[in-house]
Amino acid sequence: MNIAIIGAGAAGLILAHKLSEESSANIFIFEKTRKAGTKIKASGGGKANIFNNSINGDCYNHNIQNTLLQDITPNVIGDEFSKMGMLMTEDEERRVYPATLFSETVLDILTENLSAAKFIFDHPVTEIKPSGKKWLINGCNTLFDKVVIATGSPAAMIARNRKNFTALFESMQLKHKEFSPSLVGFKIQNYPKELFGCRTRAIVSLFHKKELVHKEKGEVVFKEDGISGIVILNCSAYYNRLDDKSDCELSLNFLYNNPNYDAAGHILRHGDMKGILHPKLNQLLMKQPFAVDDFRLAIDKPYDLEFAQVCSGGIDLSEIDNNFELKRHRGIYAIGETLDVDGICGGYNLFFAFASALKLAKHLSNEN
Ligand SMILES: Cc1cc2nc3c(=O)[nH]c(=O)nc-3n(C[C@H](O)[C@H](O)[C@H](O)COP(=O)(O)OP(=O)(O)OC[C@H]3O[C@@H](n4cnc5c(N)ncnc54)[C@H](O)[C@@H]3O)c2cc1C
Repeated sequence: MNIAIIGAGAAGLILAHKLSEESSANIFIFEKTRKAGTKIKASGGGKANIFNNSINGDCYNHNIQNTLLQDITPNVIGDEFSKMGMLMTEDEERRVYPATLFSETVLDILTENLSAAKFIFDHPVTEIKPSGKKWLINGCNTLFDKVVIATGSPAAMIARNRKNFTALFESMQLKHKEFSPSLVGFKIQNYPKELFGCRTRAIVSLFHKKELVHKEKGEVVFKEDGISGIVILNCSAYYNRLDDKSDCELSLNFLYNNPNYDAAGHILRHGDMKGILHPKLNQLLMKQPFAVDDFRLAIDKPYDLEFAQVCSGGIDLSEIDNNFELKRHRGIYAIGETLDVDGICGGYNLFFAFASALKLAKHLSNEN
């Protein structure tokens, strides 16, 4: 059996690895760039947060645990990497990393036993055409029994590199939602520029039309014209789940360890809040008083795709069955971030890429 995998990212590589191990299929990996696993290397700030041992329905934009990810728990991914000889370490928020805390370890482990797979680099796939019961890929004469789309998303790509990203979906008339930046900071209306460079902790609430959408504690970073930090990136994932994105605000409570502290009384006693707030916040407070437990920032828009870790959007889940096979193009499958599934920070996106690939590997190995 000839299997084509389009995309040498997290999903494509672990699928190739598993199929090499469990089937006698000839595997071809088409990759549009010159390298495999670019995003694996970039992930987790170079440490690669490969999954999270705590998962609930709220972690993704769709509740996929009882459908697409049935039977694939974090343990399944952990066991798979253990079998490949990679030790892992978990932090206090149950995020799992390679024990080396080095993302290249993950890439090395995934690519070392791929002798059964042939990499075809510099080959953007723009068309998959039927030929009898098999499939042909542009620029290649081999007939494929199965084709797997594992092309990820245009997140973190500069505009030039993301041109025609959805050409393949369009040529197959696949229903898809336009890719938009997720896990990204926000540009802010009437931004207080004097806060640029301030990095501090806050309890952050996202409001839509005055209704609370999401609340989380953590570090925030004030950029030149907007705000970032893991809590803010997570807010962007919840923001993307809203159909109407108008009138969205962030509320920051800077009284991180003592949210109900009497800030007004403190100012009366001490004249300012320099003993509690970051100096830039204290300076702003002295110039232009604000509620330190409810500092409001009106969201203008998320930063560009280039700065996003993942994308919202992709192939609509109505196009696939529970084995990731396209309902209207039997023999073609789609896995990983190219599907309209996005998770919050903490290892959930690599988890989905690995989990979807392993579930598909099991299905294809049974068929082979
Ligand atoms: C800076 C950064 C940090 C991140 N940190 C984390 C983290 O710590 N934990 C976490 O869970 N997630 C993290 N993510 C997200 C995670 O990396 C992705 O969700 C995951 O890599 C998606 O895997 P994938 O295989 O679906 O897609 P990708 O890894 O994007 O792979 C897709 C591959 O397909 C290729 N391709 C695209 N189109 C074509 C085509 N038409 N023809 C041929 N090849 C094509 C691409 O070049 C790419 O190599 C991070 C992302 C970024 C950008």
